[in-house]
Amino acid sequence: MIPPPQARLLLDGDALVANWRDFATCGRAEAGAAIKADGYGLGARAVLLRLAAAGCRRFYVAHWHEVPPLLPLPDGVMLSVLHGVTPQDMPAALDLPAEPVLATAAQVALWRQTGRAVELMVDTGMNRLGLAPAEVAVADGLEITVLHSHLACTENPVHPLNEAQRAAFADLAARVPAGLYALANSAGAALGPSFHFDLIRPGVGLYGGGLLPDGRPSRPVARLAARILQLRDVPAGGSVGYGASFVASRASRIATVALGYADGYARGLSDTGWALAGGVRCQAAGRVSMDLAAFDVTDAPAMAEGDWLDIPFDPEAMAAVSGRTSYELLVALGQRFERVWQ
Ligand SMILES: *Cc1c(COP(=O)(O)O)cnc(C)c1O
Repeated sequence: MIPPPQARLLLDGDALVANWRDFATCGRAEAGAAIKADGYGLGARAVLLRLAAAGCRRFYVAHWHEVPPLLPLPDGVMLSVLHGVTPQDMPAALDLPAEPVLATAAQVALWRQTGRAVELMVDTGMNRLGLAPAEVAVADGLEITVLHSHLACTENPVHPLNEAQRAAFADLAARVPAGLYALANSAGAALGPSFHFDLIRPGVGLYGGGLLPDGRPSRPVARLAARILQLRDVPAGGSVGYGASFVASRASRIATVALGYADGYARGLSDTGWALAGGVRCQAAGRVSMDLAAFDVTDAPAMAEGDWLDIPFDPEAMAAVSGRTSYELLVALGQRFERVWQ
């Protein structure tokens, strides 16, 4: 028997659900959940099951390939594929219990032959995915369960494009019949109830990134735990790791742990990341390598080889020091961890 990996991703299901509830109760709109990219790195199926149990009914992935690992869906749960359909996707799209979000006139024409209801994305100014408002008539006669659009500038609440997109979407909502209207991602929800329409689609705010609708930071959901493979004493002037970027300013005790950028512990956390050992903050020492990282545990209570270092995964705090966004840090979380929900 091969023992489990020496790095673990510890996941706080209560924090995940509490974050989702804050979106679900911030106004009158229903809250779905974006679980694309394996639930932003945390594990899409585990996220879906927890949020479905909490009452979430609508889940969003990007690709058809993301659907099968999520099956079987709990009763009453709807799954949607944001990238729409290509002719190659059609057999899967007809077979799988998921609904595309159509984005182009060609997709609309393809789907019309099925006679099935569908979701539709319109572009209100981001110029990314979606039918232009002027071409929405190509979907006339289709049964649209949800009409979507997506905001480009929610990270800047005062950007004029936010209000321009809201007004364009309100105009569409008045003339395109649909079951529900949906515009806001996580940060869009914080722009206020006029941006909520019937359904919001939070993603990163469920997983510890960005803000909750009331402006508080999202609760971090993940922690890393990595085993100390080796402890060593490095004299003042000694260096640690590739490029010798860390030079000990004092006699130092360095813990090398089983965690690297292949696991999603970003190289940008070299010398800037931190771990907790017995509650004491221990700075990353030197470059993060593919499979290893080192932390300065000089000030921590005695640690032993084989002990676990606790590495809080606060996406915003890590983004601030790593040159990555909270999104990139989350979705990079690798597949070598044992994912443990608590
Ligand atoms: C990813 C995505 C979301 C979620 O966005 P966050 O910024 O993570 O909240 C919502 N809607 C669409 C269309 C998306 O692609």
